Amino acid sequence: MKSDRKKIVISEFMDASAVDALRRHFDVHAQASLADEPERLRDLLADADALIVRNRTQVTGALLDAAPRLTVVGRLGVGLDNIALGACRERGVQVFPATGANAAAVAEYVIATALMLLRGAYLSSAVVAQGQWPRAALSGGREAAGGTMAVIGFGGIGRRVAQLARGIGMRVVGHDPQIPVDAPVWQETNAQGMSFDDALRAADVVTVHVPLVESTHNLLGPAQLGRLKPHAVLINTSRGGVIDESALADALTQGRLGGAALDVFADEPLKAGSPLAGAPNLILTPHIAGLTVQSNQRVSTLVASRVTEALLAGEHQSRITKEC
Ligand code: NAD
Repeated sequence: MKSDRKKIVISEFMDASAVDALRRHFDVHAQASLADEPERLRDLLADADALIVRNRTQVTGALLDAAPRLTVVGRLGVGLDNIALGACRERGVQVFPATGANAAAVAEYVIATALMLLRGAYLSSAVVAQGQWPRAALSGGREAAGGTMAVIGFGGIGRRVAQLARGIGMRVVGHDPQIPVDAPVWQETNAQGMSFDDALRAADVVTVHVPLVESTHNLLGPAQLGRLKPHAVLINTSRGGVIDESALADALTQGRLGGAALDVFADEPLKAGSPLAGAPNLILTPHIAGLTVQSNQRVSTLVASRVTEALLAGEHQSRITKEC
């Protein structure tokens, strides 16, 4: 018998307790591999009221066309570049990201990788265990305290990073085209607003927290990387496509940059033969900066509750309309 409960499709992994909470009110089809099975996903969406995704499911106009009843998309994260927002708007589909819920995880990743790259000494376990003692080679690391962190993109995550960076004694400068250099928020957060180029020139650590849109594509190309100090380190947890990966690999290989950490890539997973393979002083992680046990719970709980509210409000509305 067909249930009259609303249906939710979840196409990527979601914390189990949040999925259970959704099951109390709705029919839920949760399958973490659905992002890789587009035809099956389309079939399941034919009678679905809500879709919950991370960043691998491409929510395109065509997918929405296959989901005529859909009114809600929940995004287990904050970047919305995998969701056709215009197409959602046209079809009256509400989109709920997990704004703020993974900022702490990303900010800790930035500080941890910054400290690792500046010091350059933490990856010596294998050689030390073998009896080598590379003390002279590893004694030229830098301290973060007293150095300058440039935060490019001073939104939710950028500000959280700024707060932690101040906590370890760094001076914080930042650039954000939406925030004039004399806006009170810089002073309130103990940071200094600057032009993009000035922020790059001032930095010992550059951390990027912008959305991927047309104006941020290759925001850091050869010219911008050329403005960095040769010992500076660059961290990108925002989106691939914001940094020119070939130019970054060249800068590292030629010793024009101290190091880099990349959690995101123009093409994910990174393809074999990438120019980044083999570049020195480079930390690569598979888009996990925002993923921890705690952030997964926060993100999943937040999205579950926003999707529940929206679907139940829709039911309430349609009951009122029917009764009238
Ligand atoms: P946000 O919207 O709060 O802040 C983004 C800021 O970037 C805004 O203030 C905006 O004005 C600014 N900006 C836009 N264009 C810019 C430019 N050209 N130069 C400088 N600043 C510019 O977003 P957020 O929540 O802080 O997230 C930032 C990024 O981090 C997003 O791309 C998001 O997808 C990504 N993210 C990645 C992970 C991960 O696991 N790696 C996790 C969470 C978020």
